[in-house]
Amino acid sequence: MTDALMGVYNRAPLAVSHGNGAWLHDIDGRAYLDCVAGIATDALGHAHPALIAALTEQAGKLWHVSNIFRIPGQDELAERLTDASFADVVFFGNSGSEAIECALKTARRYHFVNGQPERIDIIGFAGSFHGRTYAAINAAGNPSYVEGFGPRLPGYVQLTIDDEAGIAEAIARPTTAALIVEPVQGEGGARALTGEWLKRVRDLCTAHGVLLIYDEVQSGMGRTGKLFAHQWFEGAEPDIMGVAKALGGGFPVGACLATREAAKGMTVGVHGSTFGGNPLAMAVAIAAFDEIAKESTLTHARAIADDLKTRLTDLAARYPDLIVDVRGKGLLIGLKMIPNNREFMALARDHGVLVAGGGENCVRLLPPLILSHEEAAEAVTRLEAACEAARAQLAKAA
Ligand SMILES: *Cc1c(COP(=O)(O)O)cnc(C)c1O
Repeated sequence: MTDALMGVYNRAPLAVSHGNGAWLHDIDGRAYLDCVAGIATDALGHAHPALIAALTEQAGKLWHVSNIFRIPGQDELAERLTDASFADVVFFGNSGSEAIECALKTARRYHFVNGQPERIDIIGFAGSFHGRTYAAINAAGNPSYVEGFGPRLPGYVQLTIDDEAGIAEAIARPTTAALIVEPVQGEGGARALTGEWLKRVRDLCTAHGVLLIYDEVQSGMGRTGKLFAHQWFEGAEPDIMGVAKALGGGFPVGACLATREAAKGMTVGVHGSTFGGNPLAMAVAIAAFDEIAKESTLTHARAIADDLKTRLTDLAARYPDLIVDVRGKGLLIGLKMIPNNREFMALARDHGVLVAGGGENCVRLLPPLILSHEEAAEAVTRLEAACEAARAQLAKAA
């Protein structure tokens, strides 16, 4: 392995070659059941024919032009996203962090053009992940992600999800601009917020003129069995929302969605992106959207989620010495482990199933929405083999 890469990743000793559906193959010819799915990006699995067709067709036509021109694919995808959600308008970027960056800028601009420039504070929550830009790390406040990068940015307030009184007090402050939260915390360990929590916060934000931002970068695009996770609940819609990861089915693209009112400060020249919304990304994302938003895809995702949850709950009951909780929502699943989660991920990999890490010593399962029932059963069989191996390790250490 070269040393010509910045050492910011702790990479697994697995060199990928190709994928198809829920399977990932390494260069040594081993096949893995992929319950990472590009880290929740490849919602349709690897090498989906509709995405390949969209990509290759567009590749022969036009890749990139500046946003000084009209890009018809943006109109089409924006119409789809706004028809399917609370939103009226969309800004396209290339990643989740950029979607969140745009969401935070949109919120502050809203108050600025409302004649309340003092409203800059963004309320964020412990256990959140919003990406790796300065705004994103400050909004999430994870100490290990902000350390060493200079002073914390002003205008970020951090609270805990359970601090009801603190949340109410912070929303009521005259300097508060917005509250940002993931309806299902992903990296933080697959923690699903309740409809009551979201509705309470929605109502408080409305009462105090504070904008509600959802980060659905991971929980969105069918991951929980609805197009967006908050759509499981009535009366819990945001003003602004970040979407990325599965939006392009694995192709880099992100979007910031907003109501027309919330986006009223986003006028000509205020924001932009060179690559955001390029024709290639739009073509693939439109194809991905049309597959993911199909009722049959979402129905299947819900059925597979139920199936997996049942199997994993059984597994946890057989291995209470290893797995203490099965949580999350839909196909954003967390297993809270007793043995070190990173070590368990390696054992799972050794047994041919790929899982992701997460906060609170969780391993996360983020399989593609197209996982079959047979593959779900096989994934859990392989996890069970990893559990046996973990038990053997524990016995040896004792
Ligand atoms: C992955 C993720 C991001 C950041 O997305 P990038 O594409 O890595 O910039 C932001 N928020 C959530 C909830 C995520 O899961």
